[in-house]
Amino acid sequence: MAQAVEEALEEKRHLIVEAGTGTGKTLAYLLPVIRSGKRVIISTGTKNLQEQLFFKDVPALERALFPEGDRKLSVCYMKGRNNYLCRKKLFDLTDQPVLSGLEEIEQYRAIAAWEKTTQTGDRAELAELPEASALWHKLDARADTCLGQKCKEWEHCFITEMRRRAAESDIIIVNHHLFFADLSIKLEAEGAPDAGVLPECAAVIFDEAHELEEVAGNFFGISVSTLQMDELTRDVERLLQREKLYTPQMSGAIQSVRERSQLFFSLLPASEGRFAFDSRREFLEENGEEFLALNQALYRLGAELEQLPQKPEEVFTLTRRAQQLQVQLRFVMENEDPNTVFWIERRGFRGAPGAPARRKSSDEKHAGGRTNVFLQATPIEVGQILRARTRPRARFDRPLALRLRKPGDPLRPARSARSTHATVRQPGDRRDPAVAGDYPRTRLRALHQLRADE
Ligand code: SF4
Repeated sequence: MAQAVEEALEEKRHLIVEAGTGTGKTLAYLLPVIRSGKRVIISTGTKNLQEQLFFKDVPALERALFPEGDRKLSVCYMKGRNNYLCRKKLFDLTDQPVLSGLEEIEQYRAIAAWEKTTQTGDRAELAELPEASALWHKLDARADTCLGQKCKEWEHCFITEMRRRAAESDIIIVNHHLFFADLSIKLEAEGAPDAGVLPECAAVIFDEAHELEEVAGNFFGISVSTLQMDELTRDVERLLQREKLYTPQMSGAIQSVRERSQLFFSLLPASEGRFAFDSRREFLEENGEEFLALNQALYRLGAELEQLPQKPEEVFTLTRRAQQLQVQLRFVMENEDPNTVFWIERRGFRGAPGAPARRKSSDEKHAGGRTNVFLQATPIEVGQILRARTRPRARFDRPLALRLRKPGDPLRPARSARSTHATVRQPGDRRDPAVAGDYPRTRLRALHQLRADE
């Protein structure tokens, strides 16, 4: 496998490898990646594997390959933007704290003290912060509320810092969610310089790739929810209060979105959890007026924001959010694309669509355990979209496929787009390229040493 990965990197060719747990595939791709000297992104499905790569596998390989310390690998472990603190939001809140309850005040104090010392802004450093903290959700660095280069904190922003670190790294470890979130932001921004956080790289390795299709489907899908409506009106209200721009017209526009959204979402078919929304046409025949009224309310909010006499930078972001919600709502209700499924999901508090069910936190109880409704459009086949929206730089016309098996596993033919390129190997097999081939002996010694150490 190591040899196949090395060839794929050199020839800029796609490679698909199927191998069970414990076959050593992580080391088999890390070794040629390190050897290549190219910048590579490794995307995994789970946090456990990310941590294993960052804290164990890469350092162990580095020690084995460069025992004299003659080369130092630069490795970066990146999480989703909502794991990092947005300094601008924290500073805005400091000027005008809108906190609810003792719990939030205590959390705010802890975050404000930590901000002065943290190097990364990663919330994992704040062990005492509850996982579903409502305050953190108001302070995180997610993309849809970020002002980008126009932000006055841009130079000191944790996301800017993370972007810089990634640009200087040889290996960047991310998860599939971050990878596809980044890709969809870049596609939307059509190459704007501050869009996305991942730098250009020579190759991407997807480990735990069985989860790719679902994650990509979610990111290339469209979602509209009560939560987005609530957050938009809340953010507009806060900004207007802070900037003393509140007018009766603005107040009317905010109220209208709140009321229309509440009514529209309450009319959607009722059922628990996630279910298909097959009756969109009939629903619109019956409730077309309420649908149009919500559209109109979003339009009005955007228009009122555009007419504000002085416009702090956030106004442009909020106007864009109102307009986007309007477009997305029309898409999920009216689009007839045969490659898309439409569904509804009801979840408590801030759960994202498709997120696993979990127990309510104290914040959720504090929020009254409100249910959020998500309207979702998800593509059925993401391959087409990926091909259409990305410019493949590697050859996919003749992908190589390799299936590895553990000793004792039954021999099965490999499934592959081109079965002539498929090979079944097992460690120790006389035909194993790692043994029989010309893979450099020093690398092999490192690989065998690591296997022995495991
Ligand atoms: S650049 Fe974006 S994430 Fe960073 S501090 Fe400013 S608004 Fe927050």
